Amino acid sequence: MREILEAIIDTIYELEILRQKRPERPLVRPSLSYRFAQRLIDRSTKILLSYVRLKAGQLLPRATKIVSSWLAEFDADVLKQDEDEELEEELRRRGFSRRDIAMIMALAATYRPLRDGFGALLGDTLVTTYRNAHRTSVAQILSRRGLKPSQVKIPEPDASLTGRGALATRYRKYAKPAVATLDKKVAVGLAGTLRKARTAGMTRQDSARLLLDSLNPRRPAFVATEYFFVRIAQTETASAVAEAKRQAFEDMEVDEVMFVSMRDENVCEECEELDGEIFSVAESQGIIPVHPNCRCTWAPVGSGAAPI
Ligand SMILES: [Zn+2]
Repeated sequence: MREILEAIIDTIYELEILRQKRPERPLVRPSLSYRFAQRLIDRSTKILLSYVRLKAGQLLPRATKIVSSWLAEFDADVLKQDEDEELEEELRRRGFSRRDIAMIMALAATYRPLRDGFGALLGDTLVTTYRNAHRTSVAQILSRRGLKPSQVKIPEPDASLTGRGALATRYRKYAKPAVATLDKKVAVGLAGTLRKARTAGMTRQDSARLLLDSLNPRRPAFVATEYFFVRIAQTETASAVAEAKRQAFEDMEVDEVMFVSMRDENVCEECEELDGEIFSVAESQGIIPVHPNCRCTWAPVGSGAAPI
């Protein structure tokens, strides 16, 4: 049943592309590899997110203690766990008191194991996702040519996080620095929550509750804290998938690719504009992700002389 539905959706997509996009360059069954990419991105994001929720739940008692001591008797030096002068300076610039700064910094320090664990899991997830996306893309291109993966020698992709491969380069340039500042982002988010509570004239008690809600994975307010992690998970996974597919296209001598957006109501203007555009495989490097949280992907284009 599901297969029939997917086949119908595929046909609708193709008709849409023929009608609206480039009628002279039809895409060959775009939605197969396209939906596969989305599934990989969703699955990896979910794995990373469930780690964030689990770990945040484990760290909550420590956070509760810190916020309680901020509420009751106060000793800034006890709260302060280690020095992060840059963060301290930023909070001071925002006009927070010594007491608030000490509390926010102690909370940020508490969340460092979450940051480190997330970083390690992100690395592993990217390697797996990259390999999967490469293997499946190659298999799809082969099947369009009427071949099986066993009939052709498929080059092993460079899926390491070190070295000069596309995944390693991006990991060093974007993922690592983004993960390194995660605890700081959580701290700045908490500072924003505290500022909002003050502006609304809330009591210290209510402000404390609000702060803890934003750190509690069982509360809706956690979404704001989770956002930083989701953003990295989604953006990096999408990039890994896009790069792995590009690599597979190159390995299988595909010349051109089409930019395919998620085609739902959340697609931004920039990606909507790019949707349906055709690039040479060489030109396509570095275009996806267009922005953080980008869900777009590449699909191989059938060229007249050598249809895929
Ligand atoms: Zn996009």
